[in-house]
Amino acid sequence: MGQRIARRHADRGVTLYNHQDYINALIEFENAYKRLSKNEDVFAVLNYMCLVYMELGRYHDVLFCAKKQSMVSEQLQSCVLQAEATFNMARAYERLGEYRTSIALCNRCFNTGNPPDISPLAGYTHLCLGNNYFGLSDVKNCFKHYDITSHVARILCDAVLECRVYMGLGQMFMALQDNVTSLQNYVRASEIARQFTKDHPCAKYQRRVSVEIAVICSRLGRLGEALEMCEEAMKQAIAHGDRLRAYPRYQSAYAIAVETGDRKCQLDVLSGMALCAFGAQDLEQAVEINEKVLTLSKELESKLDMLTCHRRLCDLYLYLDSPEVSCVHGFHVRQLLRDLQLYCGVCAEIIGEKDEKVRPLPCYHIIHERCLVHLYRPTSSTSLPMQRRRPCPTCRHRMSMNPVSDIE
Ligand SMILES: [Zn+2]
Ligand SMILES: [Zn+2]
Repeated sequence: MGQRIARRHADRGVTLYNHQDYINALIEFENAYKRLSKNEDVFAVLNYMCLVYMELGRYHDVLFCAKKQSMVSEQLQSCVLQAEATFNMARAYERLGEYRTSIALCNRCFNTGNPPDISPLAGYTHLCLGNNYFGLSDVKNCFKHYDITSHVARILCDAVLECRVYMGLGQMFMALQDNVTSLQNYVRASEIARQFTKDHPCAKYQRRVSVEIAVICSRLGRLGEALEMCEEAMKQAIAHGDRLRAYPRYQSAYAIAVETGDRKCQLDVLSGMALCAFGAQDLEQAVEINEKVLTLSKELESKLDMLTCHRRLCDLYLYLDSPEVSCVHGFHVRQLLRDLQLYCGVCAEIIGEKDEKVRPLPCYHIIHERCLVHLYRPTSSTSLPMQRRRPCPTCRHRMSMNPVSDIE
């Protein structure tokens, strides 16, 4: 009898969660959690609680629930569940900006759970790793894990995973100032996000992606499209009802993040607010918020975030007719690029200094797309042209062996 009531609470919780009523979902899940006796059920409810706390940005609570999950999985002697609990912890640490801890947990997730290469758990763990390496400004590893993620997402036809990885790639190419490729990735993310119904938990990506697209279009001088995307974002906000209050919601989320000291969360919320302000064409406010984002990314030592932020401020001050301040941010961009030491292995120029297409090689070192032609081997008459190319110059430089990378 008690179990039946408990399950009813859990079911109601799931329904509320699907309707994005997280606060009430939480109450139901807590009620279910107190009553449930079967370990498997307890684990499942804790999993939902982790999801809800993730949505609410309460990452310390995610950790708390994940630790309980870990204990339950030990009792059940289930490596698979242990891996899921570990993954929840990894995700929470990623959001908290504890990138190294998160990476260690992701690796533990692979070692203990041994999830099949093509499985949601493996896919989302690779995504988490990609995000962590972005936070650590490790471009090569970030590309590597995003690449594996998109491979898994495509095979599993997992739209959410695919959307998230395109957003990650959009952000990465933006940091490298390959605006065209960044735009392509965001457009693909937007196409996927558009398929989510309005009560889908991931429907919120739509608006975010639209504004990112608007920012890139305006950088590419495509102002008409930029305005169109801003309008689209506003329309989506209206269509989503409660999203209309996106800005106040951001503000309350920000207040919570400040209270709990979650700097990564503050960074994300503020980036959203900055985009919101840009979308509403309130450039002064966009500047003010971007300045805060900059301070936080400095605290988190996230150079790629700092880079994007300085570039945005560089643009914004130009719009606001302050070329001197814009120049100062431009100077910081160049300084950061030097610190990141992202050199094209072919022409040895710094990557990211101008708006230019870049390309990760199969080893995930990046080069300019225009330099790719120099990697093609002069073809003999027997082999097809363009089939083999020279090894990545950066790899060859580091190793005495000459690994020949095949074309994809
Ligand atoms: Zn080059
Ligand atoms: Zn290489």
